[in-house]
Amino acid sequence: MSSGVAGSPGTRADRLAAAVAEDALDQLLVTELQNVEYLTGFTGTNGACIIGPERRQFLTDFRYAERAEEEVEGWDVKVISGEWLGGLVDELEGRVGFEDDHVSVRTARQYAERVGDGVELVEAGGMVERLRRVKDPLEIGAINLAAVLTDRIYLEAIERGMLGRTEADVADFAVARMREEGAEPSFPPIVAAGPNGALPHAEPGDRVIGPDELIVFDMGSKLDGYCSDCTRTFATGSPDTEAREIYAVTLEAQLASLAAIKSGVDAATVDQVARDIITAAGYGDRFGHGLGHGVGIEIHEAPRLGPRSEDVLLVGDIVTVEPGIYLPGKAGVRIEDMVEVGEAGVERNFSTLDKQLTFVN
Ligand code: ZN
Ligand code: ZN
Repeated sequence: MSSGVAGSPGTRADRLAAAVAEDALDQLLVTELQNVEYLTGFTGTNGACIIGPERRQFLTDFRYAERAEEEVEGWDVKVISGEWLGGLVDELEGRVGFEDDHVSVRTARQYAERVGDGVELVEAGGMVERLRRVKDPLEIGAINLAAVLTDRIYLEAIERGMLGRTEADVADFAVARMREEGAEPSFPPIVAAGPNGALPHAEPGDRVIGPDELIVFDMGSKLDGYCSDCTRTFATGSPDTEAREIYAVTLEAQLASLAAIKSGVDAATVDQVARDIITAAGYGDRFGHGLGHGVGIEIHEAPRLGPRSEDVLLVGDIVTVEPGIYLPGKAGVRIEDMVEVGEAGVERNFSTLDKQLTFVN
C-alpha cells in the first residue's frame, strides 16, 4: 500500500547518509522493501537503493520503470535490464554495508562471490530501522489519522452492540468499516470474549458473546501507509468481582507505565513498572507478553518494550503500552494506547477512548 507521506525523501536520505558516514561506510545497500519504500516512496515489489554521501541511487527492473518514474523523487533511477543480483553488485563501491538482517545466507554469499575488487561488504542491518523509529511530523499526522479512524470504529462497534453476536461478526464489521473509509486493518482484529479473552492472540470465531463477559478487542487501521494499534476491554452486563479486579489492576499498571515514559528511559524499565504492579496484585505469571512495541509503516517495529529489551526511548518514538492479565479458562483484560514519546513524558496519546470499564449491549 502506498505510503503517501514519504514526501520528504531528501531529509530521510540525508539522515541515512549521515549515519552511513558515521559508521565509516562508503555506501549502504538497502534491499528490504519497506525500507526502500520509506526512503524513496517506491511501492513496487522489486527495488533497492544505494546511498552514500554523494550517492542516491535507486534500482529496479523493467517491470517497474514507469512506476519508479512516478513515485521516486530525488534519486537517480536506474533500470537493471539483465540479471538482478549481478546488476546490483556491479553498482557497489568501497566499504559497503548491507542489510544482513533481511538477506538470506545464500544471497549474502552470492554478494560476496560477485562483488568486484576493492569492495568490502559489511553487515549493517538495522540502520534504516533506527531511522524509521523517529517519526517526522508528516508520519505522526498519518498515524494520528489512522488512530482517529480506529477510535471512531470502536464507537460504532459499541453503538452496534456486541452481546449475542459472534466474535467474528464484530471483527468483520470493524474490517468492513475500515475498508469503506479507504483503510486496511493493520493486522486482523482480535475480538475475544469470556474464556477466549485469556488467549492474548485469539482468532475471532463463531463463539457467541454472552452476558456478563469481558471482551478483549484489539484492532488498528492502516491508512496512507501508516498503522495504528489500540486495545480496549469491554463488558457485557455485570462481570464478576475477579474480572473487575483484573481490569482495575491492568488499568493501574497501564497508567503507571504511561507516566514512566519519556525519552532517555530504558524500555525495559517502563515494562517493569507495569509488571511490578501486576505482580504485587498476585497476577505476575498472568502477564505473559511484553508491554509494547513501536508502530509505524509496520505494526511491530522498533523499539520493543519488554523485560529483555535493550532499547532506550527516543523523542519521536511511537510506541504502544499494552499490559494485560489473562486467567486461563475464565477471562482476559488488555488495555492498549499508542503514544508519542517526548522529552519530558508522553507527548501525545493517540488513543482517546475512555479507559474506565465500558459496558456494551
Ligand atoms: Zn494491539
Ligand atoms: Zn500492539
